[in-house]
Amino acid sequence: MTPNEALERLNEIHARMDRACAVAKRETSCARLVAVSKTFDADAVRPFLQAGQRIFGENRVQEAQKKWPLLREEFPDIELHLIGPLQTNKVREAVELFNVIETLDREKLASELAKEIQRNGKPVKLFVQVNTGEEEQKAGISPRDCVAFVEQCQETYGLSIKGLMCIPPVEDQPAPHFALLHKLAQQAGLSHLSMGMSADFEEAVWLGATYIRVGSALFGKREQSIPQ
Ligand SMILES: *Cc1c(COP(=O)(O)O)cnc(C)c1O
Repeated sequence: MTPNEALERLNEIHARMDRACAVAKRETSCARLVAVSKTFDADAVRPFLQAGQRIFGENRVQEAQKKWPLLREEFPDIELHLIGPLQTNKVREAVELFNVIETLDREKLASELAKEIQRNGKPVKLFVQVNTGEEEQKAGISPRDCVAFVEQCQETYGLSIKGLMCIPPVEDQPAPHFALLHKLAQQAGLSHLSMGMSADFEEAVWLGATYIRVGSALFGKREQSIPQ
């Protein structure tokens, strides 16, 4: 893809986001675009950087480590989000590489992140992932434990929580999940919501998303399917 083609795709998504903001009577640019580059290599990502995109999402620490340190030398102001599950033995690498970790979902991880963020001194931002569909195989804190968990992260571990994140079940209508996430964020006193992907980001914007995570609508179809 050329930088011009990447720019066209970005402009198209931004135009759809702006229309969704208008429909919801939210201000223009009320949500930010996280370009999900998982499975795409540095050469596929570079045109999007050349076209001005700076916020990217990856779901695996190891894959991101191969791709982003070099791209960061070319484009130092990249904001990288971890949107996949984080194992406690990868916390050090994750804090080193990512600016935002969206998948905080258990106490052990809160404790390890608190230690590592303090040791490293890097102001990594955190989202709590909520398993809004209460799916067994999916990561995320259960909705009924969400507010207490956010408080625990803040009070016991001194973590600064920016917002909530969810991945609705593929077989469900996403809107009720987005609405639930919005309600939980209000109860927890958080102002940011990471929700909505290629197929449903407009609905997410209608329901209050401040970050949407878009992969295939920008980069094209992925070869492998990625387990969550
Ligand atoms: C892959 C992925 C996305 C992007 O999905 P698309 O349907 O390609 O836009 C968003 N969020 C998470 C957590 C993902 O793993």
